Amino acid sequence: MDKTSVRKKRAKKQKRTVLTEVESKELLEKAGVNIARTRLARSMKEAVALSKEMGFPVVLKIASPDVVHKSDAGGVKVDLKNAAQVRRAYQEIMTSIKEKYPEAVIDGVSVQPMAKPGVEVIIGMTKDAQFGPVLMFGLGGIFVEILKDVSFRIVPLLPRDAREMIRDIKGYPVLEGYRGQPPADVAALEDMILKVSEFVDKNPQIKELDLNPVFAYSDGALAVDARVVLEDEAVG
Ligand code: ADP
Ligand code: MG
Repeated sequence: MDKTSVRKKRAKKQKRTVLTEVESKELLEKAGVNIARTRLARSMKEAVALSKEMGFPVVLKIASPDVVHKSDAGGVKVDLKNAAQVRRAYQEIMTSIKEKYPEAVIDGVSVQPMAKPGVEVIIGMTKDAQFGPVLMFGLGGIFVEILKDVSFRIVPLLPRDAREMIRDIKGYPVLEGYRGQPPADVAALEDMILKVSEFVDKNPQIKELDLNPVFAYSDGALAVDARVVLEDEAVG
């Protein structure tokens, strides 16, 4: 049996509904969300070719429906500056994944340009039993994980909701600029939140969604990771 039919069979059996980063980004890009340009490479050779096409430095990430937390599994290599580094990163990713997830079905690796650093924020969606789809906004890293500094609004959001939910978090001053940092483009974040709201409102088959992280810049915002989870019944 070839790889595709194995995948289909497994997907059916496990009702697997988690889309890969590449698949998730494709949907969100179509929805107008500003997403880091990302392509799937099915071999080391393809990874090198795509890196050259995109321009160094690049980021390589494991592309597998079975690996949800990519960096925890040694599946993310950033700031690769040339073909030799891309080849080594590809090897290291595959070695690590085979060790940690020996059963994983591997599509290949995603290749994307290394984005310039920004303030990391998170935009997420979950479904509440009572309210249905709810959007979450927070600053990345410890702000969400330890301090639980997040705000929520029910979908569909109005522009005013997007404005308020950003300003509601305790960490908002970080976005206003501090210690000589320029303020983040909050309007771009509002726009991204509204696009995500529209996307999930139009697609009830989406169960969960995460843009983690989104880099907020003084001019614009860019999502570098995405994860979409579908409802069980949405998978044939
Ligand atoms: P996961 O959340 O599955 O571990 P991510 O795709 O979020 O994997 O990557 C881990 C981290 O690597 C991110 O939090 C971000 O800091 C960094 N990163 C990911 N993609 C890029 C990119 N295109 N440019 C710069 N940094 C990136
Ligand atoms: Mg992530």
